[in-house]
Amino acid sequence: MNFKNEREFAQKLDRQDNLAKYRDEFIFPKVNGKEVIYFVGNSLGLQPKRARKYVDEVMDDWANLAVEGHFYAEKPWWDYHERFCQPLSEIVGAKPTEVGVMNTLTVNLHLLMVSFYQPTQKKYKIICEEKAFPSDQYLIQSQVGFHAKTVGFDVNDAIVEINRREGEANIRIEDILSKIDEVGDELALVLIGGVNYYTGQVFDMKTITEAGHKVGAYVGWDLAHAAGNVELKLNEWGVDFAAWCSYKYMNSGPGNVSGYFVHEKHHNDKDLSRFAGWYGHNKERRFLMEPQFDPVHGANGWQISNLPILSMAPYLASIELFSEVGMPSLIAKRNLLTAYLEFVLHEIDKETPNTQFEIITPENQEERGAQLSVYLHGQGKELFNYLMKNGVITDWREPNVIRLAPVPLYCSFEDMYEFGQILKTGILNN
Ligand SMILES: *Cc1c(COP(=O)(O)O)cnc(C)c1O
Repeated sequence: MNFKNEREFAQKLDRQDNLAKYRDEFIFPKVNGKEVIYFVGNSLGLQPKRARKYVDEVMDDWANLAVEGHFYAEKPWWDYHERFCQPLSEIVGAKPTEVGVMNTLTVNLHLLMVSFYQPTQKKYKIICEEKAFPSDQYLIQSQVGFHAKTVGFDVNDAIVEINRREGEANIRIEDILSKIDEVGDELALVLIGGVNYYTGQVFDMKTITEAGHKVGAYVGWDLAHAAGNVELKLNEWGVDFAAWCSYKYMNSGPGNVSGYFVHEKHHNDKDLSRFAGWYGHNKERRFLMEPQFDPVHGANGWQISNLPILSMAPYLASIELFSEVGMPSLIAKRNLLTAYLEFVLHEIDKETPNTQFEIITPENQEERGAQLSVYLHGQGKELFNYLMKNGVITDWREPNVIRLAPVPLYCSFEDMYEFGQILKTGILNN
């Protein structure tokens, strides 16, 4: 498509957009009395209007039924989590029995590593990406430290990072594959972010998963920036486990519960360790308070505690929107919207001689989702402050990268055009 950096053109794309009506499902903060252009849905998604109704329903049931709400609430609490399995399975390409919701992301990754990181003196290494999200780095370091003491291996060579090549922004798939081969038998686990939070690079999860399995390692994915953003086929790819937070692209609310995936091939594996709790126990017998743990079949057998219903309620509201829209339409709009933003950036770059933009996110649509990370050469944090003051909410990372997430559920083409104009004014007038 031949794009134009004109308001009328952007408005025309909005009129042709089947998903445009979903914008009205969300609440936008206002700056100077105007709804903001929101580019940080990869950090915290906007509040769906229908979330409040779901929360109110729980508050009312709690008020009116108290403990009886477990069984007699509008949506009973004792199996509230099961409502997520079908819609979530469609988002991540899994079977409903392979997914669940509980805790928060880093906690779930720790718990899944109880099952999928059981190092020995010979097989103890973990491959991850260089400059992974800090929580993932701390997670892996602490897991390695925890096991090294009892198993007896060297913590110093246990974590193998895949590096970017000199002068390159993204990690090359061939470097990941050759590193997996090189570590070979000693590799216990590959754990990488499916979409890199900083650059927006999407990894070829299928190929990497296969390569990890070939050397006998487990392969898990942190899907914080992938779930609800890119196409996932966790079951088909044979991924062993995965987890994601729900408050980024999935709009569930601040710090809300995490989703997780355990492949069906592991559901009957009695040798896998897991940390258990009563909500993972046989559903029909849970309240009989028996001493012997008998896990629910499937991913819900990894559940531990009573469910945080008040958190889950807004998540359920937002996931309903995903079921209505479906990932294929969302991805189609995402590609067009991201391409339009990229075009607008190139146009504004030409019109601002004192600044040079460098988009570090891959150009190829297969290798990116709803995010462009842009180096603003010649600009500093004042530009970011200008954008924020003028109703463009973005994310700034040192040294001078802004991350822009044109989220297809609620961002419009006109937003992209308008952003370009504000950016240009900010650069030329500062
Ligand atoms: C956002 C994010 C997290 C956050 O983890 P929480 O446990 O939910 O705080 C972890 N890892 C990655 C890759 C992320 O993008």
